[in-house]
Amino acid sequence: MNVICPCGSNELYAVCCQPIIKGERKALSALELMKSRYSAYVYCEVDYIIQSTAKSQRKFYSKKEILNWAQESTWQKLEIVHFSKDTVEFKAHYQDQHKNLIIHHEFSSFILENEVWYFLEGESID
Ligand SMILES: [Zn+2]
Repeated sequence: MNVICPCGSNELYAVCCQPIIKGERKALSALELMKSRYSAYVYCEVDYIIQSTAKSQRKFYSKKEILNWAQESTWQKLEIVHFSKDTVEFKAHYQDQHKNLIIHHEFSSFILENEVWYFLEGESID
């Protein structure tokens, strides 16, 4: 798609998060994976949200709930607060279905399994 990627990179989606979401290339870091997961929410790519979650954790996530959240929300921007090799603290700004502005502030952990980065778990920060 010939649009700017939602992840905040200022790159085209087609050369930024889309190839990762479509499985054409691997995320090279936890941060890159996290950004691609945000873009996947924007484009309701729910299969990718599940597939990019560590296998041991997938049972805790429902495809339907992810899809509802993705669709009900109008995603505005992703703000990276801090990141390390295997953690990302971020704020996802969005409008909920009642047009309330919400800032979802989360500290996420990631794990490298067989040279592929996966989302491990997220902790909401108030
Ligand atoms: Zn991107």
